Amino acid sequence: MEKDFKILFIVVLIILTVSSVLIYFSNYHNFLNNNNNNNASNVSNSKIVVAASVLPQKEFIEKVGGDKVLVIIMVPPGADPHTYEPKASQMEQVANAQMYVQVGSGIDFEITWIDKIKSLNRNMLIINDSKGITFIPSIENISNTEQNGENFSSTGIIESDPHVWVSPKNAQLMVENIYQGLVKIDPQNKEYYLINKENYLKELRQLDKNITNELSNQKGSKILVYHPSWGYFCQDYGMTQIAIEKEGKDPTPKEMVNIINLSKKDNITAIFVSPQYNTRSSEVIASEIGAKLIFIDELAPGYVANMRKIVKAFENG
Ligand SMILES: [Zn+2]
Repeated sequence: MEKDFKILFIVVLIILTVSSVLIYFSNYHNFLNNNNNNNASNVSNSKIVVAASVLPQKEFIEKVGGDKVLVIIMVPPGADPHTYEPKASQMEQVANAQMYVQVGSGIDFEITWIDKIKSLNRNMLIINDSKGITFIPSIENISNTEQNGENFSSTGIIESDPHVWVSPKNAQLMVENIYQGLVKIDPQNKEYYLINKENYLKELRQLDKNITNELSNQKGSKILVYHPSWGYFCQDYGMTQIAIEKEGKDPTPKEMVNIINLSKKDNITAIFVSPQYNTRSSEVIASEIGAKLIFIDELAPGYVANMRKIVKAFENG
């Protein structure tokens, strides 16, 4: 009798175990199915999430992507892409992006963070926005060339100027690269992206023409800026920038004297400063040479409108 009871107990135990395993797997199967359904509906109903590093890229992506994209920008307004560290909440957001548009020109934010961003989402398409752009050496190299007779920065590496977007010519290539990426992600809407891209490229070509005309009498002139972000712009329109900042730092007193002498020689009447940087040394130089400070922001959103504003500032400066 006791033996029968034991067998019965074992049989019941086996039945319970098998049935709980079956229930577990059928739930797991449902879970997988639901998840797949959710993903499918995300793709068909909602926008393509595109992440990028700096604000000027926002207009580029939105103009090509239209109402099919949602853009996330990593470096927020007023922050400095040479030093900015993303928040944990931003890293969560970027993990859901289908595409990341790198500036691709060696901007510090990307050098530090791009591997981490890639590791968050291995399925994300990474686009290099600088593809096709010819880099120019950073102004830091040029000043060091004069000092050391060699084309090396103090670190021994030739660094290129990362601020590629300030040239509307470069902007056209960046827009082309974004278009290529969107077509890869969403080939069904290729025609839509193509029309948007062509319209925006027209706008950028017009901008470039207008700047060429408006700054034609400034050819050969020098502009004094705090942060050396205008290299590509100056190259396009025949100007030269003198930067107050040296390798990301305020200048030494000796360097300040140098800049003051250069500015007097070139009859500089304005210093162009960006909201991301301290204006203390610019103010000192301004009062020494009798110049005014003019704020311009190479990182402001609304690319075309902002560039027009900047050109007006250069014209009147
Ligand atoms: Zn910069």
